[in-house]
Amino acid sequence: MNAVVKLPAIDGQDTPDDTPADMQAALKDALFHPMGSPGVYARTWLYEDVVERLGAFVTEQRETGTEILRFPPVMSRRDLERHGYLKSFPNLLGCVCALHGTDAEITAAADRHEKGGEWTAALSPSDLVLSPAACYPVYPIVAARGRLPRGGSLFDVACDCFRHEPSPHLDRLQSFRMREYVCVGTPDDVNNFRGRWVVRAQDMAAALALPCRVDHASDPFFGRVGQVKAVSQLQQALKFELLVPLHSVDKPTACMSFNCHRDHFGTTWGIEDAEGQVAHTGCVAFGMDRLAVALFWTHGLDTARWPASARAALGL
Ligand code: ATP
Ligand code: ZN
Ligand code: MG
Repeated sequence: MNAVVKLPAIDGQDTPDDTPADMQAALKDALFHPMGSPGVYARTWLYEDVVERLGAFVTEQRETGTEILRFPPVMSRRDLERHGYLKSFPNLLGCVCALHGTDAEITAAADRHEKGGEWTAALSPSDLVLSPAACYPVYPIVAARGRLPRGGSLFDVACDCFRHEPSPHLDRLQSFRMREYVCVGTPDDVNNFRGRWVVRAQDMAAALALPCRVDHASDPFFGRVGQVKAVSQLQQALKFELLVPLHSVDKPTACMSFNCHRDHFGTTWGIEDAEGQVAHTGCVAFGMDRLAVALFWTHGLDTARWPASARAALGL
């Protein structure tokens, strides 16, 4: 089975013989403008309005006592190195580079470009990377506060993320928005948090009328050692995903993930729970662009014709 749903055209006419490739082309035309690199798009208001409404819907689900933080699209390179990102996903990382030389060296590099030559060899890394996920910057902030309160701490975080995984598919972008709820506490705090969200997320998907299932998952760790890590992650059930069939039922798209990091960030940053034990952490991540694309892919371009429950959930 290939096409999971047919896409009603924007004028309301059904287009039953659309293939998934045609669907993506129709979605791309109506929702985005190309910006010269795959997976990097300017967004139309038709699309962005839905992203904003989805954001409000996610906010409605926020648990009381959750602290809100919003992060810029860049973060400290040193912090990300300390998180161990280069051991897991070096292939995905984007690093901010700049011309750091003397005025004469910078001028020479810019002049080389003007003469049709290569200027980028003169670039060198700055102290910033493009954030690959929304929750990374929260851990050093928590650590700096000292011991956690009893019951742990909850955060609502978001940022524009970058991952170097260029693709023609609308559900795999290089630049995309991620929203997360994060729990820092005891192992029980984190397990309970994740259990609550796995249930709540399925209710959210049901309200949005998105067909889905939740399943065990592993991160796409880099290299051969990465395959071993992925197997161990699966065996320990550290990651679940909410999967929506877009391309096909067999290869569904992860629109949310539920992650248990155990004591990884607690140990890295020296975060202690209320008893002085190493803190555990977990997060639930909403791929805001994935969810918006999934809605258009599933329900079509005419939001007036979306299922009533989805319209109600999004205030359409
Ligand atoms: P995938 O297996 O699809 O690459 P992932 O395991 O890398 O997903 P996470 O690291 O758990 O994804 O990121 C959290 C969420 O961010 C994902 O569930 C997804 O909704 C979204 N996301 C991840 N990568 C992309 C991307 N390249 N484009 C758009 N959204 C993404
Ligand atoms: Zn996270
Ligand atoms: Mg990925």
